[in-house]
Amino acid sequence: MSEESPDMHLSKDEFQNYGYQLVDWLAEYFDKIEQYEVLPSIEPGDIREMLPDSAPEKAESMDEIIADLDRVVMPGMAHWQHPGWYAFFPSGASPVSALGEFVAAGLATQGMMWSTAPSATEIENTVLDWLVDLLGLPSSWKINEGPGGGVIQMSASDSTHLSLAVARHQLEIAGIDGNSLVVYGSSHAHSSIEKGARIAGYKHIRSVPVTQSFDMDANSLAQLVSEDIRSGLVPAWVCSSIGTTNTTAMDPIRRIASIAADNGMWHHADAAYAGSAMICPEFRELQDGVELVDSYTFNPHKWLLTNFDCSIFWVADRSKLVQTLNILPPYLRNETEENPAAIDYRNWHVPLGRRFRALKLWFVLRSYGSENLRAFIRSHVAWATELEKRVNDDPRLELTAPRTLALVCFRHSGGNESTKALVDAINASGSAYVTPSVIDDVSYIRVSIGSTWTKQRHVEDLWNLIDANAGPR
Ligand code: PLP
Repeated sequence: MSEESPDMHLSKDEFQNYGYQLVDWLAEYFDKIEQYEVLPSIEPGDIREMLPDSAPEKAESMDEIIADLDRVVMPGMAHWQHPGWYAFFPSGASPVSALGEFVAAGLATQGMMWSTAPSATEIENTVLDWLVDLLGLPSSWKINEGPGGGVIQMSASDSTHLSLAVARHQLEIAGIDGNSLVVYGSSHAHSSIEKGARIAGYKHIRSVPVTQSFDMDANSLAQLVSEDIRSGLVPAWVCSSIGTTNTTAMDPIRRIASIAADNGMWHHADAAYAGSAMICPEFRELQDGVELVDSYTFNPHKWLLTNFDCSIFWVADRSKLVQTLNILPPYLRNETEENPAAIDYRNWHVPLGRRFRALKLWFVLRSYGSENLRAFIRSHVAWATELEKRVNDDPRLELTAPRTLALVCFRHSGGNESTKALVDAINASGSAYVTPSVIDDVSYIRVSIGSTWTKQRHVEDLWNLIDANAGPR
């Protein structure tokens, strides 16, 4: 036998010392984040150039490693947590979720089955059941009540892919030819729908036209479904977007549900961004009919103060999900596999292993309390409403889409060139970052208010920046 392995781990004292240093480092970062430019001034390859070509043969000191956070990492950071981050949708995070993530990393439990991670499994079951109530979703989606249930996935794209895979499997075991199945989403649905459909092997993907307010035109959906049936195809799956990425348009869930039900289709809802807002009862009318869908996804990692990755996937009937994914080799057999109180999450997603992601969400829900989470969402919607009003009142600017939550879409009245110049000026300021986009050849600016550290004064600063760069009134 060889000798004992060398004592190469951090000692308890060292772990505490460096752990405290890193907490201090992150606390300073949160405190000073506003002093950074939102985007880094670097070229592709600059960070790589600071790194050696091969991994170190000899151990390096933690002091050197920690020093490289400032030397190597910071110069290449796009600061998603900056209060001037209005781009894409927010990447939610909070000091509390970082602490939950830290503990989960140390515990490093593998939650593939109840027996390998009872606490991780039952905390996840519980927290997702809490969320069903907090968001006003059907109580039959609770694991405790059933027949539905929820599971944390890495991303909304994973949830959507999974729902496509389950729908396909259900139809194939009923004897329907997989090559004849058709998937439908609006022309403004997220790209993850087409990606998920491709991965799940669907051959026919339809892009349904939208109305003037960019929500799915249900009449066009009904027409496309009829045409497909007439040509011998089988409508299989449809997505209602609850808040599109382009403009947060809300698809008419109830009408889509009726078309889905009449034609035996799986109905999935993608509320990746907007789902967090449903913690406030006054926004729930935006997802009227949600109780009729077969699956639903939303991302606490966007707008609920929980760092990536944390996306929730609910199914109205969990037996279909488990039936699709349950493959049981002898090495995974265990004594509680038949016990309904012992959820084996390996049957609820693609990977076998899984992290203890529920810990950070549990920390967040408890540490903030629903009251503060509601206030957080409401403040962003109020500031977006004020920004929308200022844009609307300014003859140099035009709104390009109705605002439903905290995303404001507008352009320069001078057209695409002037809009591009305005975006460039805002983004060059270093204090704010917005996303330019295009719908039907019309360029516009997306301002998505939702970062953890954004305050009203930051939105005021953004307005001053817009005002100063929009040209003469
Ligand atoms: N769906 C919508 C409506 C989105 O806006 C996004 C991302 O912005 C996604 C899905 C994809 O989310 P994820 O990164 O969690 O896959």
